[in-house]
Amino acid sequence: MQPEVFCVPIFDKILLYAPLTGVVALINTRAAVALAHAGNDPEALPVNLIELSQAIYAPTQDPSPRVDAPLDPIYLGIIPTRGCNIGCRYCDFAASKNASPDMSAALGRQAVDAYLKLITQAGHTEGQIHFFGGEPFYAPALVRSVVEYATARTAASGMKLRFEATTNGVYGSKLCQWIGDHFDTVILSLDGLPGDHDRHRPALNGRGTFETVARSARIFSQSRAELIVRACVTAESVASMPDFAHWIGVELKPSTVCFETLSLSPLAIEAGFTPPDPHDFARCFDRSDQILRGYGIQTVTSSADLSETRTSFCPVSKDALIVSPDGAVDACYLLEEDWQERGLDMRLGWLKGSDFEIEAQALRRVRGMNAHNRPLCADCLCRFHCAGGCYVHHDTHRPAGQFDDWCVQTRLITVTQLLRRMGQDALAEAWLADLSAWQTAVWRSSDRLSAASQSCVIPAQRSIQT
Ligand code: SF4
Ligand code: SF4
Repeated sequence: MQPEVFCVPIFDKILLYAPLTGVVALINTRAAVALAHAGNDPEALPVNLIELSQAIYAPTQDPSPRVDAPLDPIYLGIIPTRGCNIGCRYCDFAASKNASPDMSAALGRQAVDAYLKLITQAGHTEGQIHFFGGEPFYAPALVRSVVEYATARTAASGMKLRFEATTNGVYGSKLCQWIGDHFDTVILSLDGLPGDHDRHRPALNGRGTFETVARSARIFSQSRAELIVRACVTAESVASMPDFAHWIGVELKPSTVCFETLSLSPLAIEAGFTPPDPHDFARCFDRSDQILRGYGIQTVTSSADLSETRTSFCPVSKDALIVSPDGAVDACYLLEEDWQERGLDMRLGWLKGSDFEIEAQALRRVRGMNAHNRPLCADCLCRFHCAGGCYVHHDTHRPAGQFDDWCVQTRLITVTQLLRRMGQDALAEAWLADLSAWQTAVWRSSDRLSAASQSCVIPAQRSIQT
C-alpha cells in the first residue's frame, strides 16, 4: 500500500498533509522532493527533515471499512414516514409524497428490540437511534413511542442510548419542547435569513416557514439537546452566508452550523435553483467560519470535515441499519428508486419480527462501497475526509483530476482549513483570493507526495457537471 501523504503548491511553498497521522506542514519544494525520494527511509534525508519524515510515516490505524467482521451497526435509523408537512422547492422527497404511510408502533418497537439484541451481543454499552424522513415529526406519535419504549427497555440494563433527529422544525412549540427534552442532537434545516429560507423551504400553501423554524431553533437552543443548524446553499443564497452566520451567532446557540451546497434534482431545476460557484462557496464558507468561530460555534461542510478520517462519506459501509415504514432495512435513507436509478443496491435486508434478516452477501456488497473503490479519489488529498461524497449523488467513476464542482469546493475548503490550522491565516486568505494560486493547487492529476517531482498541474477547466 502506498503511503497516504499528499502535497499541493501554495504560491512558492508546498503544503504537506498526512491525513492518517494528522501531520500538516508548510515546506519548500526542495524539501518536498527530498521527502518524496527518500520515502519512509529517513537515512536518505538531510537531518532537518528526519523528524518530519518520522511524523508523516508514523504507524497509524487504517480507517478501512470492515470486511468480514460481524454486523456491528454504528446506529439504528428509523424512518417514521416518507411524508413531509412542507414543500421544499428542491427536495427529492417531494411534497406529493406527503401522504406516505407511517411506520406502525409495533414495527418501531421490533426495530428497537432487534437493534438492542445486536449491540448487546456485540458487547456495547452505548447505542444510537437516528430519525430521518420525509419529516420524522410528521409522525410524532411513532417517534414518541419509539423513544419512550427504547428508554424504558434500556433503563434497567445500564445501556446508554442517544437519540438524534434530522428535522424541518415546522411544528408547535410543545412538540419542540418535548424534542428538546428527549433528544441528544437535533439537526435542524434552516437555509438562511427569511428571503433565502422562505424561497427554498415554503409551507405546502406557499407561505414562508422562517418564523416557525427560527422559533423552533430558539427553543432547541435553550434545551438540553445539541443543536446543529443545516443550511442548503444555492447560487442565490451563497453571498448571504456571512450575514446568516452573524444572525445565528446573535440569536441561537448551536454547537455547529453545517453548510451544504444544493444537490441538483429535477425539482430544483424546475424551481430554477442552481448550486453556487464552488469558489464563491469556499470563500463565503471561510468567512462564515471566521464569524461563527467568534461565537464559539463550529462550521462544517460534510465533505471537508477534518475532525475525523474515514473511507466512507456516510453511514453506507458502516453497517448503519435504516428501517423504512414497510420494514425494509437499507444502508442509505434515500428512496429505493433513487439509488436504483444510479445502478446501486443499498438493500441490506428486512426486519422480521424482532430480528434483522441481513444476507451476508448484501452486507459485503455495501461494505465494499468506499473511497478505495472510487477512481476519481485515488490521489486526492481529501480522500480520507470527503471519501468521494454521496454514492447516489456524486459519480466518482472518472479518472483522477476530472473534478466537478463538489471536488473543487472540497479541495478549496480543505486546503484553506489546513492553512488556518497551522495559524497561516493571512496566507489562507491571500491564496483563496488569488485565482492563479488556487487554480494551480486545485487542478492537479495527483496530490501524492510521491509525485512531487513531477508536474501534476492540469489546465484549469470548467468543472464537470454531474
Ligand atoms: S476527488 Fe473529489 S470526490 Fe474524490 S475525495 Fe477528492 S474532492 Fe472528494
Ligand atoms: S449514499 Fe448519499 S443519500 Fe445515501 S446515506 Fe450516503 S450520503 Fe446519504
